[in-house]
Amino acid sequence: MIQTEHQRRAYLQALGIDVWVPSDQLEPGLTPAVENDDVGDMDWPALRSSVAACTRCPLHASRTQTVFGVGNENADWMIVGEAPGAEEDRRGEPFVGRAGQLLTEMLRAAGQDREQVFIANILKCRPPHNRDPEAEEAAACRHYLERQIALVQPKIILAVGRIAAQQLLATDTAVSKLRGQLHRLDEIPVIVTYHPAYLLRSPTQKRKAWQDICLAMDVAAGRAA
Ligand code: URA
Repeated sequence: MIQTEHQRRAYLQALGIDVWVPSDQLEPGLTPAVENDDVGDMDWPALRSSVAACTRCPLHASRTQTVFGVGNENADWMIVGEAPGAEEDRRGEPFVGRAGQLLTEMLRAAGQDREQVFIANILKCRPPHNRDPEAEEAAACRHYLERQIALVQPKIILAVGRIAAQQLLATDTAVSKLRGQLHRLDEIPVIVTYHPAYLLRSPTQKRKAWQDICLAMDVAAGRAA
């Protein structure tokens, strides 16, 4: 496969491999190696600042602001979605549109107030025109989510939608096959369910989503192994 120099550098950077580039040859969307940060031992304030200043992938150029995540830093439940949409990009908070309202209702049905859980996305910046995240963008952003998970130490992660599930579990299996079973990410239980935006379009699937939520409740309460 033929790669341009830009693609090669973006790929290496997404993998966390520092690429030294003379500053007069820096291309838009690529960061000088010196800005690469190691988030592995950051606390919440340092992690927030790092995300807010991130230029690790080209999405930084088109965002209004980063969308770090919101909620209880010691939550039992962590919700992972895909990426900010237009409303989230404008307000700086995940899941604030119609899909967000449905997510909030689903959580309430599970006995979890929105403020009780921690909500984050695979990507911290909005992809233009709400397109799917590119693999390089997800790879560049992954260490932020991993650090958030390590800090929260949730009892359960609910991955909502295909992108979140496939990225978290490093698989390309369909959501319809991933849901309904218990997965693990570094020992932390993960349950997969449909994205609320999909449920708004396909309300007949809400019954299955409720089954997933019930499974998540059982796992979080230690009733399912
Ligand atoms: N969809 C997502 O996956 N995340 C958001 O923050 C909003 C919509």
